[in-house]
Amino acid sequence: MLASCPLAAYGDAMTAAPCKGLTRVATLDDLVERDKDHNCPGFGAHGICVKVDAVADLPSRFGEFRIVAFWNNRDGKEHIALVHGDVMGASDVPARLHSECLTGDVMGSLRCDCRDQLEGGLRALGSQERGVLLYLRQEGRGIGLINKIRAYALQDRGLDTVDANLALGFRDDERDYSVAAHMLASLNIGSVRLMTNNPNKIRQLEQHGISVSGRIPHVMPANQHNRFYLQTKANRSGHYMDYDGKPHLPEQDELVLVEGMEAEGGAQ
Ligand SMILES: [Zn+2]
Ligand SMILES: [Zn+2]
Repeated sequence: MLASCPLAAYGDAMTAAPCKGLTRVATLDDLVERDKDHNCPGFGAHGICVKVDAVADLPSRFGEFRIVAFWNNRDGKEHIALVHGDVMGASDVPARLHSECLTGDVMGSLRCDCRDQLEGGLRALGSQERGVLLYLRQEGRGIGLINKIRAYALQDRGLDTVDANLALGFRDDERDYSVAAHMLASLNIGSVRLMTNNPNKIRQLEQHGISVSGRIPHVMPANQHNRFYLQTKANRSGHYMDYDGKPHLPEQDELVLVEGMEAEGGAQ
């Protein structure tokens, strides 16, 4: 049994078959009872383990969702999944991993494209048969809110987003997706089609034993404030976007799901 368990066979190619501690149950509500005594060796270098703690309905302006709240053994943060339709046991589930951005998601900052990505993702997922969005509390690409504002201050003085993070002693991107991997496994999702432009997300999820069966491009139109930030992500962080002569990648031939972007994304 353990050979097919993402927890035991970490790092190998595998299926997300039921395994010790992550038995399949009939409904999302049943996950709370299932996880009460859940305790596993954990995902990734830090042995991250999560439990489903509470599940409720969450109708929103983007569609009908259920909200699943997770406890985890590492960072004391409350990560959540927004689930639309029946994802448990399903394959090719459209999925978006969104990292918290207080300034963008809540305050409507134009320095980044996070709120557009969040709203576009929820709208796309909510209009399909099924989908899941994980809202991960790793603010500022994992460096935290205060450090993100410090990095903004450096950018106000001319540094780009990568150099600003490096100047503060961080890597370009400190995000870690082992929490997300365990959350997807906890939801008994067979495989995901990931809405992302970030190859590192796909790589990390696969390393944690999650089957990624496809990628859905998720490119937002730039505005005058975030154009340089988006160009930097494309040119320096390896995101699949084509700014300033960066080769148009075959992955971008797939249809973009975001409203108003279909014609552009489907071209070539
Ligand atoms: Zn666990
Ligand atoms: Zn943001």
